[in-house]
Amino acid sequence: MNSHRFKAIEEAISREPIITEQPSNRVSDFFGKNVFGAAQVQRYVPESACKALNEAIDKGITIDRKTADEVAMGMKTWALENGVTHYTHWFQPLTGSSAEKHDVFMDFSPDGKVIEKFSGSQLAQQEPDASSFPSGGIRNTFEARGYTAWDPSSPAFIFGKTLCIPTIYLSYTGEALDYKTPLLKTIHLLDRAATAVCNYFDKNIKRVHATLGWEQEYFLVDSALYNARPDLIYAGRTLLGANPPKGQQLEDHYFGSIPERVNEFMRDFETEAYKLGMPLKTRHNEVAPHQYEVAPIFEEVNIAVDHNILLMDLMDKVARRHRLNVLFHEKPFAGINGSGKHNNWSMGTDTGVNLLSPGKTADTNLMFLTFFVNVIKAVHEYADLLRASIASSGNEHRLGANEAPPAIISVFIGSQLTNTLDEFEKKSKPGKLNSSDKKALKLDLGRIPEVLLDNTDRNRTSPFAFTGNKFEFRAVGSSANCAQAMITLNTIVANQLALFKGQVDKLTNTSTSSEEAIIQVLHEYIVSSKNIRFEGNNYSKEWLKEAEKRGLSNIQTTPAALDKFVTPKARQLFENHHIFSKRELEARHEIQAEIYTKKIQIESRMIADMALTQIIPAAIIYQNTLINNVKGIKEIFNLRQNTLAGVEIKDSALSVELNENGNSGSMIDAQLTMIKEISERVGIIRNNIELMVEERKRINQLDDIIKKAHYYCEKVKPYFDEIRYHSDKLEILIDDSLWPFPKYRELLFVK
Ligand code: ADP
Ligand code: MG
Repeated sequence: MNSHRFKAIEEAISREPIITEQPSNRVSDFFGKNVFGAAQVQRYVPESACKALNEAIDKGITIDRKTADEVAMGMKTWALENGVTHYTHWFQPLTGSSAEKHDVFMDFSPDGKVIEKFSGSQLAQQEPDASSFPSGGIRNTFEARGYTAWDPSSPAFIFGKTLCIPTIYLSYTGEALDYKTPLLKTIHLLDRAATAVCNYFDKNIKRVHATLGWEQEYFLVDSALYNARPDLIYAGRTLLGANPPKGQQLEDHYFGSIPERVNEFMRDFETEAYKLGMPLKTRHNEVAPHQYEVAPIFEEVNIAVDHNILLMDLMDKVARRHRLNVLFHEKPFAGINGSGKHNNWSMGTDTGVNLLSPGKTADTNLMFLTFFVNVIKAVHEYADLLRASIASSGNEHRLGANEAPPAIISVFIGSQLTNTLDEFEKKSKPGKLNSSDKKALKLDLGRIPEVLLDNTDRNRTSPFAFTGNKFEFRAVGSSANCAQAMITLNTIVANQLALFKGQVDKLTNTSTSSEEAIIQVLHEYIVSSKNIRFEGNNYSKEWLKEAEKRGLSNIQTTPAALDKFVTPKARQLFENHHIFSKRELEARHEIQAEIYTKKIQIESRMIADMALTQIIPAAIIYQNTLINNVKGIKEIFNLRQNTLAGVEIKDSALSVELNENGNSGSMIDAQLTMIKEISERVGIIRNNIELMVEERKRINQLDDIIKKAHYYCEKVKPYFDEIRYHSDKLEILIDDSLWPFPKYRELLFVK
């Protein structure tokens, strides 16, 4: 009897919801309470410093020492009034989560007394001795330290009893070692490129900002059950586990009523999130059992990324209070849906216009169409980079796994806009338009409705879908930092808009108006980017064939996708726009590859450990029970000698199949079959583990980090399926009370 598992189940089913006090029924009473936002800045920082700060944020320029000191003083006062004792520079290293190193607000005054101190320089810059963050060889531990620098465009906040200051993280030699640094660069890049294009239509537009509204999917598992699954603890996903009799086939979980315990957890983390100024809007059940989603109202992309990372951390902490564990892994359970993080992305102007929202008139719709078509064109040109930007060991299980967007990047726009583009293509053409063409075009443009009806019922299988007033990049992994996808998207769109402007300006002259030039270039883009548009079912086999015919990439593995970051084309793009230097790109490539290798390595060790030390022993105990049973039956009935021959095991995955020899129907055949099957499967598992370990040893000799990742993917990972297959068969064969780990039916259905 496996007491550990049963204790965990008992604990899990006897839980009561934990109800926490909410500060008030009205969110507006406490929203942003723990953020050093505009209101707080105004109250705690002298007016002149306030002004200097805002100007620096708007223009993206450095903040002078005096201003920094005054802001720091205000921040400290506010923080101390709110019970804060420590402060930290909060940053997003390339590991994917956030990092912090806390320092106490303490110093000695000249006369030796202890005082609370926090200066402008402490606010502006720190040198965390963080030599073990991934740096892809840029920052050798002995060579130099990395440092963090304040990002004044994202407000400081209080988390627990710590004042957290959002920062970027750079190497001593100035290379970015985080996500925020390049993200901020792309925000400015896109601002410049998009504003310049906006000015064809509206000279009043001075700024364009990218917006992001993410939808975060996650699973919950009771803590007791979680703690009894080493694979969940160390790999974030189940490496073994047979499918339960009931999975998600009834689809009864989706939008169903939220279990009370889960509801209390949601209320609790939402309250904390509101205090931190996160505009969380929706919560609901997702498709798979015990899967949920949370989504905010969209925000400026830098803030949205910070909020997502902070929320993931917050949810993890709050869940533990409720004796739950949050799984952000892309594929925690085989056989049921995985989790993604839809990135809804658009561009907004300082005049309040959403550039991807159709307007009321033909003129505003030409502006809409300009941005719309340029995004499609950008995706067409750089689909591989987008694919690279969502590559991770976790997402590899999800993409193309017949439930999530395939690894092929394509764009869905809906039938109304497909019509619009088709008509536009017909009526516009290279060269001069006659006046009736122009009129017809304008008429069509004027007809694009403000609300795109068919987009409300859009194609859920597309990895990159236009959903009425924004594009939704659905292939992003649930555990990812959205920044990686946003850096890429911002860059390729900015690049495309700059090219567009170049072409339009070149065509514009005394006889061709800029509007005519715009129409000509758009015509060309609509034609040349048609291949990337796909309205059908992205999960279908036909699409795989069709995409291949169109010449679209279908990059299956993470290492292969990551390689796309360092192609000459990618390098040229990122270097030209000063987003990443060659060194930075190579470093990132290496870091991601190394993270991939390490994760597969951990999974490989874990699966071997679980199989060898728990599953095989359990199987053997059960086998012995069967053997004793057979012996007993024989003794009692004094049966004739039975041999193992005559036992047929109907499973093509087993190598030995014995022929019948007339003994079937005997009283012990069933037991003998099972004894035989257990031996076979145990043997296959052991054998595969040995081969896998050998493979690992061989690959670990390699120095080349990139090659290693490829080999781990191609040579180590395939053993997982093989081992799992036989382990899962044992799970449904042997005595339930001996099985060492909580089963899927417990993990997914105990709520
Ligand atoms: P759903 O996709 O579930 O139907 P919505 O269309 O309301 O829901 O929006 C989904 C997400 O898209 C939300 O997080 C929302 O904030 C975000 N979103 C809406 N408009 C924009 C925009 N202009 N830019 C970025 N995100 C947006
Ligand atoms: Mg959505």
